[in-house]
Order: sequence, then structure tokens, then C-alpha cells
Amino acid sequence: MCGIIGYTGSENVKDVLLDALELLEYRGYDSAGIAVKDETSHVTNVYKCAGRVSDLRAICDSKKILSTCGIGHTRWATHGGVTDQNAHPHQQGKVTLVHNGIIENYRELIADYDLQEILHSETDSEVVVHMMDYYYKKEKDLQKALERVITRIEGSYALCIVSTIEPDKVFIAKKDSPLVIGKTADASVAASDIPAILDYTKDVYFLEDYEIAI
Ligand code: GLU
Repeated sequence: MCGIIGYTGSENVKDVLLDALELLEYRGYDSAGIAVKDETSHVTNVYKCAGRVSDLRAICDSKKILSTCGIGHTRWATHGGVTDQNAHPHQQGKVTLVHNGIIENYRELIADYDLQEILHSETDSEVVVHMMDYYYKKEKDLQKALERVITRIEGSYALCIVSTIEPDKVFIAKKDSPLVIGKTADASVAASDIPAILDYTKDVYFLEDYEIAI
């Protein structure tokens, strides 16, 4: 088990994400990472490492990170070693993604989408971000891209996705991995378990398999 978090709202997302990842630490993990939107350029910056959330916090504290939208992840490695490179988030083109679960057909997808030469990690998860990039280029619409992606991936997943195309939105989807969402007057938050969002709202909704939320 491991954890996932997505947030868009009015607070400084760095602390929101790191605090939530600490609340999800009980689920077990070997690496941690966050991706946050840069407020001026809208580029998505990724900070990640093998190790503890406290190690990730030390990396983030050494940078000036001001942002109100982002995603975070604690990894329990299933495919690929415990390395900085294999830690999530993974990024391709304008899309950045975190994934909890296992993409069972990732080998077939690597062949189908011709990804052998361009993967940066050994994870099953990275194929999903390349597929998002591929379908975004075809559809010119992130939601449609995600709809296409989830018809092709098999296995278990909780996904949180951000993009420079729609920089204040977090796209999420799930199958056989938990994902709960909550909304307040000025924020929306998604996480793999309730403790990570209870600070914001007690009014929560558990996503069903194959449901997408933005
Ligand atoms: N299968 C993915 C990996 O090995 C995600 C593992 C997880 O759920 O953290 O990176």
C-alpha cells in the first residue's frame, strides 16, 4: 500500500501535499514525490526521491515553491527498483502523473505505443503518462485523453494527473485502488484515504471504479 494526494485551491500546495503524505505514511512506502505548478510560468516542477517524506521535505524546503495546485505520491515499488528516477511523479510533454497500483498490461502497452526508447524509468506507471500525452495530442482535450487511456490500461490504479494545459485542475481516475475526494468553498482535494483530507472537509465521496473526476 502507499498513498496519493491531489489538491487545487488557495493554500500553498507544497505544505498541503507534504502534510498529507505524512498522514498517509502508515500505508507503507519506499519513495516520495510531488509535482507543483509554477505560478508564473505554469510549468510543472517535480521533486522526488527514494526515502522518507522527511527527505522530500528537506529537498522542497531548500527551494522556493509557491503554488496552489499539485499532486503527491508515496511509492511502494512493484516494478523497478527503489530509485529517485523510479519515484513518482512521472512526466511527459505537458502531462505529469502519480499512480498507485499495478498496470498489468504495461509490457503490451510499451509495444503498442512504441515507448521502448523513450521511457525514463523502469516503472509500469510511466506508460500511462506517455499514453496521456499521446491521446491529448489526438483529442486536444485532457478529459477525453483520460477516458481513452482508461479503456486501454488493465490492472489497478488510482491516478492523479496535472498538466500545463489546464494548470489549475487535477484529473483523477481509479480502478481497484481507493480514491476519495472532498470539496470546500475554495479547494478540491483527492487522496487514497480519508485522514489526508479530513482537515479540509468531512463531506467526502469515494470514487467508483472507472469514474473520472476533475
Ligand atoms: N507500480 C507502480 C510502481 O512500481 C506504483 C506502485 C505504488 O502503488 O506505489 O512505481
